[in-house]
Amino acid sequence: MKNDCLFCAIAAGEIPSNKVYEDDLCYAFYDIAPQAPTHFLVIPKDHIGSVAEIGAGNSAVVAHIFEVIANVTKELGLESYRVVSNIGEQAGQSVRHLHFHVLSGRDMTWPPG
Ligand code: 5GP
Ligand code: ZN
Repeated sequence: MKNDCLFCAIAAGEIPSNKVYEDDLCYAFYDIAPQAPTHFLVIPKDHIGSVAEIGAGNSAVVAHIFEVIANVTKELGLESYRVVSNIGEQAGQSVRHLHFHVLSGRDMTWPPG
């Protein structure tokens, strides 16, 4: 757990959140400022700063997270959804702990803004 990391604190249960799913490796919770009718985030419990910090030593959790996304969206009855991860300031990353946004329930535009 990284000091002063908001999502490490959320994964540890130190800051309350609205849980969607949890296991030993990852935690999923609803976004506090939803950008779609369904909008939740999936994060690894271990601190990884962003996609830019994924490598041979920590990439297994990413495969696991995508498996979790496939399962949880099915359980929620979501047939169409978008998975997004922002990396760095210009792309709009505001929390420096790896997270995958899962957005669903409205028409989406492409390219994203
Ligand atoms: P980013 O901007 O880094 O791609 O995504 C961070 C997301 O975290 C944003 O969508 C923001 O609304 C969400 N967020 C920020 N602080 C909190 C919080 O304290 N609780 C929850 N549930 N979501 C948060
Ligand atoms: Zn963290």
